[in-house]
Amino acid sequence: MTAIARDRADPDMRRGACPALSAPMMTGDGLLARVPLTAAIAPEQLADLCRLAMRHGNGMIDISARGNLQIRGLSETSAPRLEAEVRAMDLPLRDGLAVEVPPLAGEDATEIAGPRPLADAIRDRARDLQGLAPKTSVIVDGAGRLRLSGLIADIRLVAAEADGEIRWKILLGGTEASGRVFNVFAETQAIEATVSLLEKLASLGSDARGRDIASALPVNDFTAATVSPFTLHPLSDGTFATGIGPAFGQTHAENLIALCNEATRLDIRTVKPALDHSLLFSGSQATCRTLTAFAADTGFVTSSTDPRGHIAACTGRPACRSGTIATHEIATRAAAECTDLLDGSFKLHVSGCPKGCAHPQATALTLCGMPDHVSLVASAKASGQPFASIAFADTNATLRRLADLVRSERRSGENSAACLARIGPDRLRQAAIPG
Ligand code: SF4
Repeated sequence: MTAIARDRADPDMRRGACPALSAPMMTGDGLLARVPLTAAIAPEQLADLCRLAMRHGNGMIDISARGNLQIRGLSETSAPRLEAEVRAMDLPLRDGLAVEVPPLAGEDATEIAGPRPLADAIRDRARDLQGLAPKTSVIVDGAGRLRLSGLIADIRLVAAEADGEIRWKILLGGTEASGRVFNVFAETQAIEATVSLLEKLASLGSDARGRDIASALPVNDFTAATVSPFTLHPLSDGTFATGIGPAFGQTHAENLIALCNEATRLDIRTVKPALDHSLLFSGSQATCRTLTAFAADTGFVTSSTDPRGHIAACTGRPACRSGTIATHEIATRAAAECTDLLDGSFKLHVSGCPKGCAHPQATALTLCGMPDHVSLVASAKASGQPFASIAFADTNATLRRLADLVRSERRSGENSAACLARIGPDRLRQAAIPG
């Protein structure tokens, strides 16, 4: 049964809220429901979900940074109908605790260990656990080609090999780089330890998160090499997956239906929402390449070098009532005008307000909409201390000046993130507000 999660005073600023199919969340353009797929589906099924999004919502679909499919613009009347029709499709939907695995788990020959059995065991053991924070997440990462290293998790298990044995390192809070090391276990002990940690979090109350029980532990301080989803990935059965995504994680259902129809025509087997706002379509190498070309021609992100893929932009104004800036317009201009700044070394965060939905972590540069200006924030979250405040109308021109500064200051071999950090907030302010 659908229960509406809402906060009438400020519908978009609730922290810890988590939209679900049965508990859609109120946003600026109506209710938002998440379709929590746990496995790949057929392109025809994704097209059917898109048709439901047009019938019951406003037709806008998000693919989130964590790889969640979200349907926007629902009403209190249409949300329960959407839920009933989605459940009738008999899709692989998550029930209970979010235990996430990388999108190629079980199909990736480079994985140290397949994470699905561990994830299934943890999900089963935690099924009756009450009192966890709504957004509690566990990541089980087999350390293969596409990793979930950059996503925040309360508890993260990462496969490692030592002396010919598979071990699972358990981290608490943060990303893989910033999480804190709890311990290293063999598989059975790793399941027991994870369940014990979840029980401990539940006993501390529904606000408790992994970071809250980790402060005395050492930081992992390890950054795994990352592969972009926006390329062709070889799979262990000899087929391939290609990563395709809507710009800034959002598109109209009609665009996705056209992509799915082409995938079906090409005999593409499956599609799965994945990290970094991507969809992974699986099939032969030739059909994946043909679909990628079709997607590029129709405006989707298909390459790791597409500057739009290096911008995290939330829904913003006008669709989100908390947003004070038109995030997608600003981001589209930035992608066209600041290509050398957007070198993939950081996510430029364009946030409609300090909540920072599109990129909860710190990043090298954020443009954050405020009630009467835009804050520029360096090396922090959207809600961090700004180094400058500018008028709405100056946003893209200011960003161009910062890009010019980085271009002129960049040292040989230095990427944009390192250059921005070296320049520092004082000189960034001078460039942002000349004279
Ligand atoms: S960060 Fe963006 S999407 Fe989130 S509440 Fe603010 S304006 Fe809305």
